[in-house]
Amino acid sequence: MLFNLATSPRFRVMLATCCSAGCDRARHTDGAFRLRVLVVEDDPDLNRQLVAALSDAGYAVDKAMDGEEAYFLGETEPYDVIVLDIGLPKMDGISVLEQWRRADRKMHVIILTARDRWSDKVAGMDAGADDYVAKPFHMEELLARIRAQVRRATGHARAEIECGPLRLDTTTARVTLDGQPVKLTSHEYRLLAYLLHHTGRVVSRTELVEHLYDQDFDRDSNTIEVFVGRLRKKIPPHLIKTVRGLGYRLSPEKDEV
Ligand code: CA
Repeated sequence: MLFNLATSPRFRVMLATCCSAGCDRARHTDGAFRLRVLVVEDDPDLNRQLVAALSDAGYAVDKAMDGEEAYFLGETEPYDVIVLDIGLPKMDGISVLEQWRRADRKMHVIILTARDRWSDKVAGMDAGADDYVAKPFHMEELLARIRAQVRRATGHARAEIECGPLRLDTTTARVTLDGQPVKLTSHEYRLLAYLLHHTGRVVSRTELVEHLYDQDFDRDSNTIEVFVGRLRKKIPPHLIKTVRGLGYRLSPEKDEV
């Protein structure tokens, strides 16, 4: 399917059910691994379509409509992936990207270029882009490229991530335990998927909140603790270790606390 709002019934449904309702993200029970994505696109329709598609795929999505806003958000917020249009008002995408990289911002950036502007692709990659998608594009291709960047960012070459009896298939967003599907709410899923992507590493509560929720989320809540408690009832509880004062660590060993 070539991505086009006018001809996409799926998108009309998405826009009607997702965006107009203020994106009730709790509904994304089968969504993909939740990560923070920034969409930078000055075309209002395309921006809206991208935000809807990425939200529907389970990402926490923020948006920017011009280069200055994009630069500010990319400088201050911990995005995992940024989808960046090249032709933008106030500051062009290449300059935005160059400034992020100069400031040592390392998030993965996928640029959107015009199909016939090969020079934009070269300039974008030279400025520090990790990948590009030429307009008009298939949304499935952009989503696949974002998944690939997420895997690269977290050091996983394969689409499946395992920890002991737990397995996450990032392409279908399914978690299994000894081969049996684990029923998770969207919040539980996002948290577990993030920990699985970072197996063996201590992940702080702050990092979890920053990467699992968008700007509007109430970050003072102690939901993370609540969801960890619920997860421990659905998977072997020893898999999620509490590292006192630091956060949580996912690992298959049984004898650690
Ligand atoms: Ca543009």
